Amino acid sequence: MPGWEQIAEELFRRRYDPLDVSVCVVRAPEGLLVVDTRASHREADELLRDLRQLSDAPVRWVVNTHAHYDHTFGNARFSPPATVLGHERVPAHLAAYEVPMLAAWTAGARQPREEWAEVVITPPTELVGERRVLEVGGREVQLLHLGRGHTDNDLVVHLPDAGAWLVGDLVEESGPPMYGSGSFPLDWPGTLDRLGELLGDGAVIVPGHGAVVDAAYARAQREQLAEAAALIRELHAAGVAEQDALAAGSGRWPFPDEAVGPAVRDGYAQLRASGSA
Ligand SMILES: [Zn+2]
Repeated sequence: MPGWEQIAEELFRRRYDPLDVSVCVVRAPEGLLVVDTRASHREADELLRDLRQLSDAPVRWVVNTHAHYDHTFGNARFSPPATVLGHERVPAHLAAYEVPMLAAWTAGARQPREEWAEVVITPPTELVGERRVLEVGGREVQLLHLGRGHTDNDLVVHLPDAGAWLVGDLVEESGPPMYGSGSFPLDWPGTLDRLGELLGDGAVIVPGHGAVVDAAYARAQREQLAEAAALIRELHAAGVAEQDALAAGSGRWPFPDEAVGPAVRDGYAQLRASGSA
């Protein structure tokens, strides 16, 4: 199975460029569960071919860890017949962010234009609230929404018998956490606190981008996210204008400026929405 990394028994992961995005697969005799579908029809078709290295069984379930294009734009290639599960706010996020972005890319803002023009944005066929449990090959697969963070529609996929957690972009390894496009910087640390409470000893965490990490890594990233959130609150409380906040916090941000810019924007938006502006 060249290219596939075995994470646990009957659980596989493959890292795809561009973006070093993770696709995970739970293999069972009756079918496959695929977590995230990549960014276009062409990328999804490559994934479908690669799945045949693992099994001839059909893909019966797809889970979207969240609505971002690099995790959902391949959905149309799986469904029908696969059931696509996603958080209940995925459809609204797709409409608010991914649909206009795809329209701009198709109009020529991002190459190759033809590849983007093929994409048919396909929402989940089954929406998940706080929790949903599937049985795949006789094992339990939990889908959990732990709160807002990278988006308001992040789902983590937990395989209790393997101690494995497929966390989408709530934790990132190949770069700093990605803010923007519907992120909730002020809620993100609390969501990782809830994840941290659930992680057992030896938990195996598969980020949406990058290498497999452990609970200590997730805790450390939680601390950085908490530092960023605290600084956004501090600057806002001190009356620093949004456009001046990045510079005003210079030297204190836990992430590079290009990562923090969208965090300031979305964090200030959260503070305005909560009526403290
Ligand atoms: Zn994302």
